[in-house]
Amino acid sequence: MGDVIQLLPDHVANQIAAGEVVQRPASVVKELLENALDAGSENIEIHIRDAGRNLIQILDDGNGMSPTDARMAFERHATSKIRSSEDIFTISTKGFRGEALASIAAVAQVELRTRQADAPVGTAIYLEGSDIKFQEPCQFSPGTSISVKNLFYNVPARRKFLKNNSVEFRHIIDEFHRVALPHPDTAFDLFHNDEPVFRLRKGQFQHRILDIFGRKLQPALVPVQEDLGWVSLSGYVAKPEAAKKNRGEQFFFVNNRFFKSPYLHRAVQDAFEGLLLPGYSPSYFLLIEIPPEKIDVNIHPQKTEIKFEDENLIFALIRSTVKRALGIYNVAPSLRFDAPLGLESVLSSGTTSSSSGHISGGIQVPRDYNPFKDEVAGPLGSVSFPAQDMEPSKINLFPDEDLDEDLMRLPNGYWLYNDGERCLMIDPGRMHRLLVKESKDSSPLTAVSTPLLFSMEYHMSEPERLRLRQMKKYLAKVGFQLEIKHESTLLINSVPYGLNEARLHSFFERLFEITELDSEEAFLQAYQERWKASQARSRFDFLYKKDVEEVIKQFTKLGFPKYLPDGKRCYMELPLEEFKNKF
Ligand code: ADP
Ligand code: MG
Repeated sequence: MGDVIQLLPDHVANQIAAGEVVQRPASVVKELLENALDAGSENIEIHIRDAGRNLIQILDDGNGMSPTDARMAFERHATSKIRSSEDIFTISTKGFRGEALASIAAVAQVELRTRQADAPVGTAIYLEGSDIKFQEPCQFSPGTSISVKNLFYNVPARRKFLKNNSVEFRHIIDEFHRVALPHPDTAFDLFHNDEPVFRLRKGQFQHRILDIFGRKLQPALVPVQEDLGWVSLSGYVAKPEAAKKNRGEQFFFVNNRFFKSPYLHRAVQDAFEGLLLPGYSPSYFLLIEIPPEKIDVNIHPQKTEIKFEDENLIFALIRSTVKRALGIYNVAPSLRFDAPLGLESVLSSGTTSSSSGHISGGIQVPRDYNPFKDEVAGPLGSVSFPAQDMEPSKINLFPDEDLDEDLMRLPNGYWLYNDGERCLMIDPGRMHRLLVKESKDSSPLTAVSTPLLFSMEYHMSEPERLRLRQMKKYLAKVGFQLEIKHESTLLINSVPYGLNEARLHSFFERLFEITELDSEEAFLQAYQERWKASQARSRFDFLYKKDVEEVIKQFTKLGFPKYLPDGKRCYMELPLEEFKNKF
């Protein structure tokens, strides 16, 4: 046989590549909105016709483009946002791959009008299936308008795959929410078949949430805030009574970019532990701010998955901060609040607040905004305050933080503990492990099953497949709902209530090590041991003194053993005398 390889013609290659970025009208809306934001727009207008099949037009008042840039913008890998691959790690714009416009133009008819503020006239370009049909000067106000017509007109197979208009429009709305929510300082107007659907004015984050999801959510919102210096978390969670049986409104943003994370979703779910009926999910709107070099956004063509340098720490931050917020607003009365601490600080900080509504380093709360009017007494018992003095973020979240100088967290997750005589470097995770091991509690064997929001896939080795066959019936009894997808992929749909799902994968790895499978009793015993182990926390889960104090308290009751049964150290004593000689 002779040579068979040939290069694909450009238009075919472009259409294929477009498939990665443009799956449906909603993907076009997302990309164009992101470009408008990257261009610094303050007002964005979106016009949709027939769920985006026939027209998607985005108008912005951003920087605009020069005539040459307007042409260049449709080339593949043409971008003004990065120069080298290194730049991806310091990126502050939404886009950087330079693929969106090229992809969209490959599968639609596109009309672009744009003008830079200092240019006397604008430029208009018309393209069909990647070909520039004409470019000419035009009158246009500063900014850009892109109209995308007849999406997939030249790829009938893809057009056929589009769902009905209501489904496609729903996707558009979902993308719109994801972009509009974290950009409350930009106004958005969205029209469908000339009817206004959203008119979002500039405001603050909480206003944007309410403008999109309705005022009825107002009394349910609980503010969440923590700043660790290198990373901060802010936003809102909805109280348990507003939880939904289906997925509800769940949004994570990192540096104002929406992302999905089943793992971090678990952190919120964990924080609501014991507050929700099985099957219910909390609503949340959480913003993470982190230096761009600590995340990688380039692991997914639509950039909806993010890799964090230290995901465990982000998990712990979210779980602890949300938990604390729920406690402060008396949503979770079981949380401990040692004494009426913070009363003074609430009183003083409540009255010395600035009138601008800006709180340094924190979320912004307007003077007149108070979603918690009815509950100001909350965790502070019977003391009540005028509502306007109870701006949520004015409460000192960690009132005892400065008094407890005997305990300090180190950047590597260990803690320094001065017990009066000695100074110890402790590993609270290991101490917790021992506490769990020693505890009498065991797993609920007639477990209530909780469906996972996102089924988890586990890829089984050959021996694991055989094991699964033997233990499947036992696993069903303790509350797992499993499915085999393909030969070796196990789909975990539901898990026993209370299982630490963040460690589900490693839990399964350990389950497959169980060899006691002859009788149900033997299996259950081995299973319980693993259950306990999976409930243990790591040192990175400990961010707050209160938690570490609790561990120390319990650990003291055990006699403060230095080692775990497997020989690992729980703490080491610092040789203070030796330090003296060093000075
Ligand atoms: P990326 O956003 O990854 O750079 P795109 O294909 O989405 O790639 O856009 C290519 C370039 O076109 C952008 O880098 C930007 O310079 C320019 N551009 C696109 N849309 C706009 C807009 N609405 N306003 C100004 N410039 C734009
Ligand atoms: Mg872009």
